Amino acid sequence: MPFGKHIREEVRALTPYNAGLTIEEVKAAYQPASIVKLGSNENPFGPSQKAVQAMNALGSSIALYPDPLARSVGAALAEKLDVDPQTIIFGNGSEDLIGAVCRAVLNSGDVVATLYPSFPLHEDYATTMGATVERVVIGDDFAIPLDALIEAASRAKMLIFSNPMNPVGAWLGSDAFRRLIGSLSADTLLVVDEAYFEYAALEAGFPSAIEELKGSNLNWLVLRTLSKAYGLAGLRIGYGIANSPEFKSYLDRVRTPFNVNAAAQAAALAAIGDDGHVQEGVSYIRSERARLMRLLTDKGFRLAPSAGNFLFIDTGQPCDVVATALLKSGIIVKPWRQKGFHDFIRVSIGKSEDNDKFVSALLAFTQKS
Ligand SMILES: *Cc1c(COP(=O)(O)O)cnc(C)c1O
Repeated sequence: MPFGKHIREEVRALTPYNAGLTIEEVKAAYQPASIVKLGSNENPFGPSQKAVQAMNALGSSIALYPDPLARSVGAALAEKLDVDPQTIIFGNGSEDLIGAVCRAVLNSGDVVATLYPSFPLHEDYATTMGATVERVVIGDDFAIPLDALIEAASRAKMLIFSNPMNPVGAWLGSDAFRRLIGSLSADTLLVVDEAYFEYAALEAGFPSAIEELKGSNLNWLVLRTLSKAYGLAGLRIGYGIANSPEFKSYLDRVRTPFNVNAAAQAAALAAIGDDGHVQEGVSYIRSERARLMRLLTDKGFRLAPSAGNFLFIDTGQPCDVVATALLKSGIIVKPWRQKGFHDFIRVSIGKSEDNDKFVSALLAFTQKS
């Protein structure tokens, strides 16, 4: 008997997540001389050494279950962000919390609005619940169409998008963000995914959704992660700030009780205490990003200004062809396979010498050198 008949229709319709290749997979398939991993927006400088030490210091205490509420990390974040610790929820990566909020609020037939091209999990977890996803497509100028977003949100049970937007890098500034939240009804749950907040926070007029939403009458959840600027992607820890302890307590009921492991909690606590490490990485990446943006624009590529640690590039040819050619040179990028954006790749900003390797390989392949 084919197994598919046991599977819910919503699940059968899902596309497998495009997680990108691991270093081991690329080694096995292409045997390149060296590998540059620019496919998953990781921090090329890695985590704070304080985080590594804290994790190593756990010793045999890993025999015990972790704190199901990650209270020590929560207390540190509550102080840093000036929020009630009872409104902070942790996830096995922030993606875990995207799933939790969808399970907690969505019924079959509900409408979810999001930006497109999208972070696929914003759509997939909603689709799994039977919700209908309404995509608001970015403009040809890569700008977020605010009026269309407001209009779509007015019909949605939930509005979820990342700011800055992955994969494009575009963002809503304070004025636009205030107009959006001013237009929302309390019937629409707002989920703002700020996975790249630490990179974007230095842009003039970039809004902290937490600050903007504090004190509003809306229902909201802001997601952040330690996977990107904090360099802890392998440990899997992200967090959400909800508008109330009540909302947070419902999210707790739809996650697994020990979703954040002891190593992640120990490392996160130390990492949060080492702002210097994050800020050093952020300023390096921002200056490299500007350099790359200029280089590629000069060579005639169409790309979006980005507030994240990545660039979204129109290569003028099918993304899988370009990505495979780059893999042969040992460079991993993310081919963007969503409809309408098949010619785009998303490349993470890495160390200067690695970015140069990427640019030379791309120019050689596209014959723009
Ligand atoms: C990377 C990313 C995440 C996932 O981060 P984890 O905390 O590692 O799960 C969530 N949202 C967006 C938009 C991302 O780009």
